[in-house]
Amino acid sequence: MRAVTWQGKHDVRVETVPDPTIQHDTDAVIRVTSTAICGSDLHLYDIFGPFLKPGDVLGHETMGVVEAVGSQAGQRLKVGDRVVVPFNISCGTCWMCTHGLQSQCETTQVTQHGTGAALFGYTELYGEVPGGQAEYLRVPQAQYGPIVVPHEGPDEQYLYLSDILPTAWQGVAYAATGDRSLEKNPVEGNTVVVLGLGPVGQLCVRVARLQGAARVIAVDRVTERLALAAEWGAEVVDQGSVDDVVETLLKLTGGRGPDAVIDAVGMEAHGSPVAKAAQTAAGMLPKAVAQPLFTHAGVDRLDALHTALRSVRRGGTVSLVGVYGGAMDPVPMLTMFDRQVTVRMGQCNVRRWTDAIMPCVTSEDDVLGLSHLATHRLPLSSAPAAYAMFQQKSDGCIKVVLDPAA
Ligand code: NAD
Ligand code: ZN
Ligand code: ZN
Repeated sequence: MRAVTWQGKHDVRVETVPDPTIQHDTDAVIRVTSTAICGSDLHLYDIFGPFLKPGDVLGHETMGVVEAVGSQAGQRLKVGDRVVVPFNISCGTCWMCTHGLQSQCETTQVTQHGTGAALFGYTELYGEVPGGQAEYLRVPQAQYGPIVVPHEGPDEQYLYLSDILPTAWQGVAYAATGDRSLEKNPVEGNTVVVLGLGPVGQLCVRVARLQGAARVIAVDRVTERLALAAEWGAEVVDQGSVDDVVETLLKLTGGRGPDAVIDAVGMEAHGSPVAKAAQTAAGMLPKAVAQPLFTHAGVDRLDALHTALRSVRRGGTVSLVGVYGGAMDPVPMLTMFDRQVTVRMGQCNVRRWTDAIMPCVTSEDDVLGLSHLATHRLPLSSAPAAYAMFQQKSDGCIKVVLDPAA
């Protein structure tokens, strides 16, 4: 079959790899009908890392049709079912899974690296499970993971259940102040800032609005992304046209700061002089200290995190959706302690939120605008150009879906 493979920094290629087969009775194999590129894929695209091997099959936002099932998986799924595959692989029965922490699944966690649940298409660090940017995908733990969806409606209506929609949902739930995270509308009445308006940030804006946030203020530097957030009811701040984002946010909130800030950016390298200097400095450190995985960006990749911690109101909440990593990240502990900030973070526990989200996905009026979020639907063979476009945010690109059948 054809699959998108990682070959090196800024080098992905569509290659022929062996077809996946059932290996365990909990497996299923699906024929992929849609598979998206995520900001998390850009972290892999942007770096040379010790955990990446040329030929690794990428992709973790996938849906398709069940082609084959192992005996246990077959108790829940049948050939022909239309399914969305959560990006983290969880068993549904261990202590973590039964406590809503599917991203920490004890059955699939990668003990070798001390990381949480295995992930599709996310290198040796997360279990080296081949990803879904391919014609077919083997799905482990299929007796629990795959979400069966109706046959009617376009793929894009359901696809984001795999990752970015539950991620935004959890991001908003974690933005609740005090003890409100388990409430039905955890941010109702609050002022919520969303930093970063990629696909994840866009959905954070929409979910926060849907759940009754009084104000949503959205920050980015890409014109199309700001415009789309404004269409969905956000007040927008263009990072490129204000001197200081923190000051702007304080001014907009009467000097106190927003109740919550969601960081939907994570580590970002802009090739700025600061990033380059940090990269050079990191290159001079002993290898054990400067893990190559984390040397691609420097201080400015923490820009969003610091903006969040410095602008949130005292006693407010920072919800980290964006991925940060690495021993080199200087966490501003004194600021966090002094400001009595709650910070919640982590990978999305995808299956935890499926039931709560499903009514939005199947709603006739598409309340979250899911069917129009993708700006590009391209053949799998266009993956190299699609990765470059999504990374550069060119051609108005906000979300790319790849179609292996096109
Ligand atoms: P993206 O790269 O398309 O979006 C990031 C956006 O942030 C861009 O529009 C960029 O212009 C903007 N930006 C950069 N620096 C900024 C700053 N300092 N302030 C404000 N905006 C800034 O990516 P995406 O697909 O939307 O994903 C966003 C993040 O969420 C990534 O780090 C990704 O790895 C992470 N993610 C986490 C989970 C999870 O389970 N927690 C799941 C999916 C994605
Ligand atoms: Zn993703
Ligand atoms: Zn589990």
